[in-house]
Amino acid sequence: MTRAASGQPLHMIGTNRDITAFKEALRAREEIQDQVEGILENMNGYLFQRALSPDGNVSYPYVSESLYRMLGLPFEPGKPGPDLRQVVSPLDADRVEAAIRQSARDMTALDLEFRVRTGDDRELWISNRSSIRRLYDGTIIWDGFGTDITVEKRAAQQLFYLTYHDKLTGLRNRLGFEADLESAVTSAIENLAPFCVFFIDIVDFRAMNDTLGMKKGDYIINETARRLQTIAGADAVVARIAGDEFALLKRATDKIAATLLAERLCAVVAEPIWLGNENAASDAGYRIDVNIGIAGFPDEETSSASALLQNPVPECMKRCDIALYEAKRLGRGKFCHYSDDIDHRVRNRTLLQQSLHLALANNEFLLHYQPIFDFQSGKIIAAVALVRWQHPTLGFQPPDQFIPLAEESGLIVPLGAWVLKTSMTQIRQWRTQIGLQKIAVNVSGVQFSQTDFVEMVENLLRETGATPDMIELELTETTLIDCSPDMLARMNALRGMGFTLAIDDFGAGYSSLKYLSKLPVDKLKIDQWFVGQMLNDSSDAAIIRTIVALGKGLNLELTAEGVETMPQRDFLLAEGCHAGQGYLFSKPLAQKDFETTIKTRK
Ligand code: C2E
Ligand code: CA
Repeated sequence: MTRAASGQPLHMIGTNRDITAFKEALRAREEIQDQVEGILENMNGYLFQRALSPDGNVSYPYVSESLYRMLGLPFEPGKPGPDLRQVVSPLDADRVEAAIRQSARDMTALDLEFRVRTGDDRELWISNRSSIRRLYDGTIIWDGFGTDITVEKRAAQQLFYLTYHDKLTGLRNRLGFEADLESAVTSAIENLAPFCVFFIDIVDFRAMNDTLGMKKGDYIINETARRLQTIAGADAVVARIAGDEFALLKRATDKIAATLLAERLCAVVAEPIWLGNENAASDAGYRIDVNIGIAGFPDEETSSASALLQNPVPECMKRCDIALYEAKRLGRGKFCHYSDDIDHRVRNRTLLQQSLHLALANNEFLLHYQPIFDFQSGKIIAAVALVRWQHPTLGFQPPDQFIPLAEESGLIVPLGAWVLKTSMTQIRQWRTQIGLQKIAVNVSGVQFSQTDFVEMVENLLRETGATPDMIELELTETTLIDCSPDMLARMNALRGMGFTLAIDDFGAGYSSLKYLSKLPVDKLKIDQWFVGQMLNDSSDAAIIRTIVALGKGLNLELTAEGVETMPQRDFLLAEGCHAGQGYLFSKPLAQKDFETTIKTRK
């Protein structure tokens, strides 16, 4: 507009523009922005622009509205975004700040994961990705996109927790325990502080779980876990490393302290667990036992001390396993420290157990026979079959060692059947060839508790053509102490068929007169330990006297085991025991030698 000097308008120049396109563009832009916001909201994400000015100031020139919603903050259009550093959790703030500065220095894109606190005090996990550029004035700009990854993070944390913890007890699991062991090793080396690891196994848990049901089984596991932690103290790590196996790590503990702890653990775990109503008179509580294997770290007393230092975690666990294996062999409620000696024994046993499985198929077993003599006439009246194992490379193995192994693995069942069958075949021949009437066969408790034992014996009679009067079955006293009604029925059946039943190793199991009078047996075999001691120890002599009197009173035959000297024979005879076996008369003999012996003795 031009004016005259008086102020009068002279003329006006103007343009008219069609702004329809501009307005449409503006609307389109708003629409796009709405769409973007919609998308961002659905994705649980936001857009942002971060600026780092040359004076070092960080600001957020733009953040999308969705971030406000995400953070529970009020949105004020047109205002610059909140300083995101204010909402980053203090746990991550330093790390985030350092990463931003680093990205600016290197001019590299920035990916970040961090926690934020929302306006209503919740914690969210945010993942950020941004590209980077520099403006002409030196300001650095990040254009980025962020998402809420809280759900994924929680799931990952849960997964992480489950990776290292046992669901049932909340204790560490095997993996978690190994991680703790790893850090204990590091601190033991740095601080010269030894520690001990315990493997703790509940005896017969599987059978218990089957009879009581899963729910009560779980309760027992939880209660055991609680007791272990209470006894071991809050500073000890207790872990559940298998269904019925716990591990315990106790720092600053030497062998003596470990022994005391193991004793306490065994005792406290064995106290009754109340499964039902604690006040109910019928609920006497449930009792469990554990076995414990212990290994120390470091352990200079062992020859493989350097292997332990080189490979601490697996080596430590292996040592506990070996010690536990030995503890189990010692019986319920027993514990054992790892040592070279035990390592050697367990390895040997494992080796034997493996070859034992092949031994039967490979015909590595044979029978030796020890004659039983009549003390007065000196005549052989029967033979005891004793199994022998000739290992192809390890040589002769004594039955005292491999029979328990065969019992553990169950191989005793087919092995016992083989012994019985071989003895039946042998005695059938010997009755006609050398006039021997009877062979006594040892029957293991494991074998005798098989429900089809009688059936198996009947089959063998059929196969070999032997008759029951040719065989005496020796059952150890310890087997018979826990004699179940089933076993009693089996004894009656066998005796009914005509077999002679003997109680083996009598005197060793401290059985009572009451129980003895109820057992359907024909004979007592006096344990060789008493025979060996009776002339040195007056109380053993008294026991022999009692056993003989007992046998006579119950109308049982008597045979003494392990008779080595004439005075022993004379004493036994004087007391009223008329027969026996032992080195005085003969050692166990191979078949041919036995035949020769019997011919010369006749
Ligand atoms: P056992 O039934 O008490 O057998 C007697 C053991 O004492 C035999 O040892 C025999 O060699 C030994 N012996 C015999 N006379 C004397 C003696 O005068 N003094 C001494 N010190 N020992 C004597 P072996 O053959 O080593 O057998 C050991 C145990 O292994 C047997 O004890 C028996 O419990 C078990 N056994 C052997 N063969 C079998 C079998 O076929 N089946 C089962 N289940 N167990 C068997
Ligand atoms: Ca025997």
